[in-house]
Amino acid sequence: MNLTNIGTVKDILSRHGFSFSKGLGQNFIINPDICPKIAENGNACEGFGVLEIGTGIGVLTAELAKRADKVVAVEIDERLLPILAETLADFDNVKIINEDVMKCDLHRLIDEEFAGLHVAVCANLPYYITSPIIMMLLESRIPIDSITVMVQKEAAQRLCAKVGSRESGAITVGVNYYGTVKNLFGVSRGSFMPAPNVDSAVIRIDLSKEKRLDEDSEKFFFKVVKAGFSQRRKTLANSLSSVMGISKEKVYSALKVQGLPEATRIEQLDMDKLIAVSAELMKQ
Ligand code: SAM
Repeated sequence: MNLTNIGTVKDILSRHGFSFSKGLGQNFIINPDICPKIAENGNACEGFGVLEIGTGIGVLTAELAKRADKVVAVEIDERLLPILAETLADFDNVKIINEDVMKCDLHRLIDEEFAGLHVAVCANLPYYITSPIIMMLLESRIPIDSITVMVQKEAAQRLCAKVGSRESGAITVGVNYYGTVKNLFGVSRGSFMPAPNVDSAVIRIDLSKEKRLDEDSEKFFFKVVKAGFSQRRKTLANSLSSVMGISKEKVYSALKVQGLPEATRIEQLDMDKLIAVSAELMKQ
């Protein structure tokens, strides 16, 4: 079944009485070039199990299933289940789990479904929840090799910004702490049904196996990062004192140890300096 043929897609949707939910970020891929490119770049191949988030009518799911040993896809909208039963009928290596991915026990899912396989995440993410999903995947430390996802173009720019630049954010620090990130290719808004108001891009995060900080230091580090970026135009001393209740004097002295001025803002700190300032604050 050709799930990028507009006539075929319209026919399936109307036979099942399906209407798109804007709230769930339902923009389905109809450009035939996109899914093969995501699969190729996303480790969908022999020896890999792929975890997909959000199936829509299964256009990417099918492409992943053609290439990987197994695909497990988590989809929140139960109205899509009868459609998927039809569109993915030819595959015996796909399992759909009807759940909110944010509530899923992914450690258990991977243990139970992907024993003996490398695991990769591939998805065209629902835009309303892109950053929370990516941060959840990173922070949960599930055993995955890579995350290859379509996100809004602006989100891709933030994810791939340099830590310590005006374009960076808490999510930039997150991806660079847990691995390395690459902007792979852009996708125009006309590649989707219905077409969203913005263009998109596909990025890949390769996860690193080593841990830079112990668990407590890591937790504290991300509290500092989130507090700092929640008021990014303020000085670090101002944002940390108002959000975390750390005195400005303590922040000044942690900055001083690194040779940094009192007026430093979080977006001016590169990864090493951020980690060093956070470690100094934790010590105090
Ligand atoms: N993969 C399909 C494609 O590319 O055509 C659909 C992508 S669409 C942008 C996002 C999908 O994620 C929708 O099917 C939507 O129902 C689903 N979704 C939204 N929120 C979700 C959540 N919290 N957990 C799991 N799936 C979710």
